[in-house]
Formats: sequence, structure tokens, C-alpha cells
Amino acid sequence: MDLYKIYADNAATTKMSGAAINAMMPYITEYYGNPSSLYSFGQKAREAVEAARESVAKCIGAQPREITFTSGGSEADNQAILSAAALGRKSGKMHIISDEIEHHAVLHTLKKLEKEGFSVTYLPAHSDGIVRVEELEAAVREDTCLVTIMYANNEIGTIQPIKQIGEICRNKKILFHTDAVQAVGHIPLNVVSEYIDMLSASAHKFHGPKGIGFLYARKGIRLTNLIEGGAQERGRRAGTENVPAIVAMAAALNEAVGHVGEYSNKASALRDRLIAGLSEIPHSALNGDAVKRLPSNVSFCFEGIEGESLLLLLDDKGICASSGSACTSGSLDPSHVLLAIGRVHDVAHGSLRLTLGDDATEEDVDYIIKSVKEVVEYLRGFSPVWRDLCNGKGKFIL
Ligand SMILES: *Cc1c(COP(=O)(O)O)cnc(C)c1O
Repeated sequence: MDLYKIYADNAATTKMSGAAINAMMPYITEYYGNPSSLYSFGQKAREAVEAARESVAKCIGAQPREITFTSGGSEADNQAILSAAALGRKSGKMHIISDEIEHHAVLHTLKKLEKEGFSVTYLPAHSDGIVRVEELEAAVREDTCLVTIMYANNEIGTIQPIKQIGEICRNKKILFHTDAVQAVGHIPLNVVSEYIDMLSASAHKFHGPKGIGFLYARKGIRLTNLIEGGAQERGRRAGTENVPAIVAMAAALNEAVGHVGEYSNKASALRDRLIAGLSEIPHSALNGDAVKRLPSNVSFCFEGIEGESLLLLLDDKGICASSGSACTSGSLDPSHVLLAIGRVHDVAHGSLRLTLGDDATEEDVDYIIKSVKEVVEYLRGFSPVWRDLCNGKGKFIL
């Protein structure tokens, strides 16, 4: 049943692809054996898991042994950071470099480590939402054990200079982790040529199922397991493998990576059409760099309105959008990402994130532009903040 006309919240989650559903079905209905069982029925599941590992590895330029399946992006982020911290602690290196616009899976893990005695440098993301390589280089210390910088931001879509960061870390022998949950399957990437030591990914962001993801860790990096139990995943992640989800993730990723160039061209043209249309709204601004951004991400702030009201009215028009990340919505605090790029509280509250799917059309984009224009005008019509601004009480920022 199609409740919604346009789903424009693909950064929150995506629809499972037909390829992913078809790939997983036999492992739900027929081949439900435990991959750790010795009889051939179980081995059928084992083979599927290992074929999926090989396929996933190939999609990012890694070796199969370097892939550990996890419950998703959050777990992969936690495991990568805690593993690097454990190695750092052993050698007396307790400094970590990250940035202000990371996902909470990274930020909250870092906060926990700070309580345990680690010191963390959070690089600024500047007004364009991009960290500066020189600032990163300057922040490196003798006791730096980890650099963790996301590949692409989930709220404002900005893409970081990952290869340059990776090269610096490799030269200085510092572990480099990247939360690539928004990038994998959406833009081309390669862990070898970009000097990435650890990378987190999540299937439901690239048309796979929810609750499954993976952590890539370069050969030789010792991972700390977060879950104790059986010897699955070569002792790095206990628990019976989620075979159907693993198989579906591999199918989804393979498909996404297979048409990443075509998708990127089509999506960025629609994105730019949407940005141009929304820019016509007075006192509005695009969040983050216009060029170094994900092909599907459009993030705006509109002065004088509340993002929540905007979302509800867009919902009435059949548009699913978000005001930031799904994790911060529901709380009244403005997004830490928007504050980090210099949006003041009032402006950050009037934010809108639209992340188009690969089936989006120009008609969809034009309908979104028309709807947002109407809703913003309507809301400003009875906003006291807007009235004050128009009457010269207070100053327009955007
Ligand atoms: C969605 C997301 C996560 C969390 O992934 P889950 O699989 O939902 O745990 C982590 N980082 C980023 C950048 C994300 O967009």
C-alpha cells in the first residue's frame, strides 16, 4: 500500500531492493541451517555467508578476511573505535582525533573513552561542513592512536577529503577509521587507494535490510569483540550469523556499486534542480558545500519557521522528509551538525533534509519545490519571529 507520494528520507533508511529480497528468501524458507553445523545443510548457509563476505569485500576493494559482519553501522563504529582505543591504551597512546559533525555512534563512543582517560580533539567542520587537512595534520600528537572522520555526513551530505586524511595517517602510522555508512553504495570508494584502515557500513542505507552491516579492518588490526560467546566471525563477533540479512546485504551492495556512476549522475542532477528551486525562497540557505556533497542530499535552513511544523505539513502533502537526523528528531535540541557549521539556534530549528531515492523523477523534485515554497510561506504567515524580523525587530541572518 502506497501511503506516501514521495519518500525523500533515504538518509534515514532505504527501501529494500528486489535483488536483496530475492537473494534472502531461500535462506529464510529453505536453507535455514546454522552455518556452524557440520552437516551439509548447515554448510549450505556457511557457503552463502562466505560468498557474501567475498562479494562485500570486493565492492570496497578489501580482502574477505578483512570483513566482519555486525548488526549495523552503530555496532561497526563502536567496535572500530573501541578496538583502536584498546590498542592505543596498550602502547600508552591515548589521544584521538575526530570532528564535530560525526554520527552519535561515533561521538558517544568517544565521550565514553574521554571518561576513561582518553583525550579527543574534535576538528571544526567550518561553514562548508568540511574538515581541513592542515588542521588535522596540526592536531596529530606523539600519543595519537586513532583518527576517526566520517566519509560523508548523514545530515548535510558533505564529503570529507578521505584519501588525503588516510595518506597522512598511513605516513604517521596512526590508525584511520571512517564511518562510511552514507557513502558505501552511493559514491565510489576503495579502502586500499584511500589508505583506510577501518570502515563502517550499514545495509539499510544502500537498499539492504535493517540490522545488518559490516566492519572492514585492514589485515593485522586486532579487533576487540563487543559480544562474548561463540567463535563466529573468527572470534571477533559472537552470535549465530544473520544469514538471510548477510546474503541480502551482499546482493544490495553489489547492485548499488554496479550502477554507482549512473546513479550518481542522475541523482546529482535532480539534487541540483532541487537546490536551485529551494534557493528561490527568501532568507533560506543550503547547508554544507554545494559540490562536495552526496548525490542525493539536499539540506536547507529557512529563517523564521520551525522544522517540525514544516515536516508535518509536508507529510500532509505526501512528502517524507526530515529535519536533521532521525536520531535527533523528537528532541528539542537543534542538530549538533547544524550548530557546528555555524547555524545559530533559531536558524538551525528551521532545517529541512531531503534525501532522494534512485527512483526519483524531475516531477517529484518540482512537486517538492512547489510544496516547500507553499508551506514555508504559510508558516511564516503566522510566525511571531518572522513578523518581528519583517518589522525590523531583530536582524535576518540568512
Ligand atoms: C545510519 C548511520 C549510522 C548508524 O547505522 P545503523 O545501521 O542504523 O546502526 C551510523 N553512521 C551514519 C553516518 C549513519 O548515517
